[in-house]
Amino acid sequence: MYELVVETSTNLPYDVRRAIKEAKERENKGTRAALSLSTITENIDMADEHVLPICQDTGMLTFEIKVPVGANQIKMKEAIHSAIRQATKDGKLRPNSVDSLTGENSGDNIGPGTPIIHFEQREKDYIDARLIIKGGGCENKNIQYSLPMEIEGLGRAGRDLDGIRKCVLHSVYQAQGQGCSAGFIGVGIGGDRISSYELAKKQLLRDVNDENENEKLAQLEDYILEKANTLGIGTMGFGGEATLLGCKAGSMNRLPASFFVSVAYNCWAFRRLGATLDAETGSIQEWMYKDGEKITFADDKSDQKDESDERKEVVLQAPITEEQIRELKVGDVVIINGDLHTGRDAIHHHLMDHDAPIDLDGQIIYHCGPVMLKDKQGEWHVKAAGPTTSIREEPYQGDIMKKFGIRAVIGKGGMGPKTLKALEEHGGVYLNAIGGAAQYYADCIKKVDGVDLMEFGIPEAMWHLKVEGFAAIVTMDSHGNSLHEDVDKTSFERLAKHKEKVFA
Ligand code: SF4
Repeated sequence: MYELVVETSTNLPYDVRRAIKEAKERENKGTRAALSLSTITENIDMADEHVLPICQDTGMLTFEIKVPVGANQIKMKEAIHSAIRQATKDGKLRPNSVDSLTGENSGDNIGPGTPIIHFEQREKDYIDARLIIKGGGCENKNIQYSLPMEIEGLGRAGRDLDGIRKCVLHSVYQAQGQGCSAGFIGVGIGGDRISSYELAKKQLLRDVNDENENEKLAQLEDYILEKANTLGIGTMGFGGEATLLGCKAGSMNRLPASFFVSVAYNCWAFRRLGATLDAETGSIQEWMYKDGEKITFADDKSDQKDESDERKEVVLQAPITEEQIRELKVGDVVIINGDLHTGRDAIHHHLMDHDAPIDLDGQIIYHCGPVMLKDKQGEWHVKAAGPTTSIREEPYQGDIMKKFGIRAVIGKGGMGPKTLKALEEHGGVYLNAIGGAAQYYADCIKKVDGVDLMEFGIPEAMWHLKVEGFAAIVTMDSHGNSLHEDVDKTSFERLAKHKEKVFA
């Protein structure tokens, strides 16, 4: 179980690697999307090489385990819990399980409801153990539809295959790349609200290249994969060719009165693996999702900048002045050296009514909940440090920037109108880092200068970091421009072209 957990968190399956490689080949050279894919693939190699988490959001661990009749599930659950505790201690998983009412972190990823373990008995003499680790950023983009209904841009969706088609296409549009696209979706049709979502998540256990046995669903999967990639949302929602890398759909019976279509959205960091285990010893017999060649990206230079690339690169070092910020425009690439301070949900909430533990004037806040490990000498080390979803800080961000004089925030997925207005008034900028590139960014962190507000737990504390060569893209500037708004608008126009009936 320990091997399964660590391997899933650190080493992407072969079918997912192939899909990412194909997307990278399709993407136009020198674009923001190509730069993102290049960072992603570098990150995949780094995580694999150093056996460290692919993404700092080590996600919800969900085990689907098929056992021989009579297998002791209590013992297996204990083995899973102890493997998770050890993997957390070893920095392979971030402590990610928090009390929903108090916000207290259990510290070892074990708590009521975490991990999720499903057992199923069957007449075989070995164990089939599969694990999917799904992060919060993409989980928050899951969506459920109840047919019939009106769908924005697509009109009425009825209780038929064409109605399902509209739901699924819309699900990709509404994600806007925020669950770290290019992504994969699982679709559950029918059931009740809960079993429909479960069916959707289970579709993510299918191989990216398998073919649906149901002809109609196979048609639907092909259609969605093709059309979703014409919406122009692209990697990280920066615009581009690669939005969706896989679509798998399953159906089950329902009550005559309900018709649910549920979509489970998974980011590019599609961490799911499986193995067959000896039922007597628990040892691994064979890995799953590792057929064919293992793709690595070290020699892939297809993403390198060429002479026609007009991207502007600007180096920033805090403290930053308002004049420096006003010079930045959407699309510029920013390279940060020097100080960065992490801050996510708890910190933003705290700063609304309290003083900051350090002077933040001219500083940069990084929306990040890193994986940190303390060595025997008491020194902290960064094990994974990618950006978290910024929109959660929308109610606070603008006020906090003005209150403390913060000039830049880094995160992923962009922010809303309130922050955009504050950036314009105050002279601030939003920088989009590449979601999930936890190893790539951890490598840019050269020193941990200290930590404040540790009472919020490791991911939520304010870490003071020294970075070098930390790259991000300006997606919201101080002149009222937002790449996120632009991509939303154009992708909506493209979505609306698919109103007409396609499936009988
Ligand atoms: S890649 Fe993005 S969506 Fe996926 S787990 Fe990491 S931060 Fe979350």
